[in-house]
Parts: sequence; C-alpha cells; structure tokens
Amino acid sequence: MRKPIIAGNWKMNKTAEEAHAFIEAVKNKIPSNDNVDSVVGAPTLFLEKMVEDTKGTELKVAAQNSYFEDSGAFTGEVSPYALGELGVDYVILGHSERREYFHETDEDVNKKVHAVFRNGMTPIVCCGETLEQREAGETAEWIKGQITNALKDLTEGQVSNLVIAYEPIWAIGTGKSSSAEEADETCGVVRETVADLYNRAVSDAVRIQYGGSVKPENIAEYMAKDNIDGALVGGASLEPESFLKLLEAVK
Ligand code: PGA
Repeated sequence: MRKPIIAGNWKMNKTAEEAHAFIEAVKNKIPSNDNVDSVVGAPTLFLEKMVEDTKGTELKVAAQNSYFEDSGAFTGEVSPYALGELGVDYVILGHSERREYFHETDEDVNKKVHAVFRNGMTPIVCCGETLEQREAGETAEWIKGQITNALKDLTEGQVSNLVIAYEPIWAIGTGKSSSAEEADETCGVVRETVADLYNRAVSDAVRIQYGGSVKPENIAEYMAKDNIDGALVGGASLEPESFLKLLEAVK
C-alpha cells in the first residue's frame, strides 16, 4: 500500500531563526518513516541549515521551487543541482501561486520535474482548478490536461515515485476546504489520468495529496479516502504544535 505523505508548505514565511526554532521543537517528535513521510517545504534561504538540523531525524526537507537548468546565467534562480547536492529530498513544483504570480506554464513545470529527478530528488507536482472552472464543470478536463503536460516524457519508474498534490485554487488559504468526497473524486481523476498515460501498476503506486485549508481538525476525513494519500498544508504547517497534530492524525 501507499505510504502517507504529509508536507508542510511554509511559502514565504519565517526567518532563519524561526525556522531553526521550529525544527528544534518538532524534530524528536516526528513519527517513524515506516508509517508516514513527514516533509517541511521551506524558503530557499533556510534549506541548508534545515538539512543540517534534520540530519538523523525522520523529518524530510522540501524546496518550494527550482529552475530547470542545473547551472548557468540565470540570475536569481534556484539550481536543482545545488539543491540535490545540499541534501534536499523533495521539491514542490507548479504550485498555483507560482503559476499565477510567476507565470509558470505546464511546460515549465514538466521541465522542472525532469530536472528534479535528474538531480536525485522527488518532485511534488501541484495541480488544481479555479472556482470558475469548477462551477463550469471543467475540473476533470483541466486536471487531466495539467497532469498529462506535467508528466510528459517521464518513465514509469519516475511516475511511480512521484507525488502529485491536488489543490483546488479556491480552497488555498481561504479556509474554504473542498469536501472530502469532492477531493477524493478529483484525486481519482488524477489517478485515472496516470493509468491512461502509463498503466495500473504506476497509477496504484503514485501518491496523491489533497491540499487547500487542511487542518488538524479535518485531515482525518481526507486521509480516510481511497484516492488521497496525504496532504500539502500551508497555514496549518507553520506552528510546531499544529504540524505535529497533522502527523499524529495520520500515523
Ligand atoms: P493552505 O495552503 O493549507 O494554507 O490552504 C495549501 C497550499 O497552498 O499548499
């Protein structure tokens, strides 16, 4: 069976000192990796220190973005090669905020997915629809398209190891979470898309998270669903106590 994966996404929050204090507060209380993968997605600035602080613990570290070239004249960008060398485990890619504010396209996301695998890390690939798309009944088509484009030219082995985060944009940071039924249905669309593109063994292996206003109080409802293997959590991952409660609810 698929191992649950809970990932915090701090977005552009915390100082280096606060990041360090968070890790100190949680690092000895993380459930065993045998039961759940626990991940914190931190700003680039703190990654080196966080990798160091989490060494020998069950907590894994994620970057929130990386470029698709390994090195070169790309002022201000984050090298996936350098992230891999640092010991970062996961990279969140194609978050809706990256797509909306930084104009990332499906093609960029696909190139970044390849770059992250090339450098020995695991991508967490985000997809999700707007409220207008949901209300117009376009969710399934849109999600199929995003997944098909994001996974272009990946091998079966890569996709089997991938994490996909389904995050309806209208549920992110709004307190308006998708119902567990709706979330499960759309995560099912993601899984069927993978089955169509690859095969059943691959779609049974790929882990799919729900994201969007997940909290300690509602995480169990999502985790009880067949197609939901974890959560990508923004606001509720910022405080140590709340983050630990999310993990407790799953293990
Ligand atoms: P939220 O964010 O949990 O604050 O809604 C989720 C995300 O954007 O990953």
